[in-house]
Amino acid sequence: MSSSDNKLSLLVCGGAGYIGSHMSRMLSDYGHEVTVFDNLSTGYADALKWGEFIKGDLRNPDDLDKALSSKKFDAVFHFSGLIVVSDSVQQPYQYYDNNVTGTLNLLRAMRNHDVKNFVFSSTAAVYGDPVMDIITEDHPLSPLNPYGRSKLYVEEILEDYAKAYNFNSVCFRYFNAAGAHPDALIGEAHKPETHLIPNILLSSIEKGRKLKIFGNDYPTPDGTCVRDYIHIQDICDAHLAAVDYLAKEQGAHIFNLGNGNGFSVLDVINAASEVTGRKIPYDFEPKRDGDSPRLVADSTKAHNLLGWTPKYDDLREIIETAYRWHKNPAY
Ligand code: UDP
Repeated sequence: MSSSDNKLSLLVCGGAGYIGSHMSRMLSDYGHEVTVFDNLSTGYADALKWGEFIKGDLRNPDDLDKALSSKKFDAVFHFSGLIVVSDSVQQPYQYYDNNVTGTLNLLRAMRNHDVKNFVFSSTAAVYGDPVMDIITEDHPLSPLNPYGRSKLYVEEILEDYAKAYNFNSVCFRYFNAAGAHPDALIGEAHKPETHLIPNILLSSIEKGRKLKIFGNDYPTPDGTCVRDYIHIQDICDAHLAAVDYLAKEQGAHIFNLGNGNGFSVLDVINAASEVTGRKIPYDFEPKRDGDSPRLVADSTKAHNLLGWTPKYDDLREIIETAYRWHKNPAY
């Protein structure tokens, strides 16, 4: 199973969402057979331009059985997560039900259909308050919110599956996914939008819209939270490399995905002002529940073992691709 020599059949759960749609497109561009499974609860039908679409819900085992029966898949990518930290604090049941029980349902269906390769979207939120400036994969795991815990529980389940069932997985701990495909046919769209870069760009584009900055007394140089922004196409490149890695290396593997550069909310606003040529209006607001002051990745492991190097290492270039999308979004 090598992604460069063979045409692979791949199931993309959450393929109508932000990362899943970019992944489906990249897989299709490389000539692989793509099947998307999505309930369209937060994704967009208009993002389903690549591969066959099966509408279904992770919480419904019959839907999963139908999807896994449709073809013999070489691997499954799982992007179907609920991802809003503050919502997870308000609605932990929904987060554990979708992100943990839903994933267990998917894993059961995979085992029933003898599919053993799994690539899972985890998150830097599993680390909680950082005790190192740059976070390696062996940093202590202490998520601050149900979203982070839901992802950590799945990581632990995957370790157990590797030992008990010879089930192979790669978990990617994304830092902050950002940007859009350079041709802007697809991009980042959430309703409501909670993410920083889209909100900054919307405040720049929409008259009268003001950005809310959540917290200005964090223990960071300017008091706003520091994050590591990694381009969506770089994230997708890593997923493709993971399929090749799983062909050689059995077991459960975990990798950080980030650029290794920390930018505060104010840094991102300044970079976006340069890109758009406009001032971004903002107000300081109270902190959001569950936000970590600083999350910056050491991705040396992905570089060494997957041969992965992010191509977008300039924040302005990342924001530029996002801006191209937000100026004229297709959905
Ligand atoms: N943030 C903000 N205003 C917004 C959205 C986000 O100040 O409208 C801050 C947020 O508190 C965090 C950072 O920007 O410190 C990144 O937030 P985002 O939701 O994009 O990603 P997260 O790091 O929560 O996964």
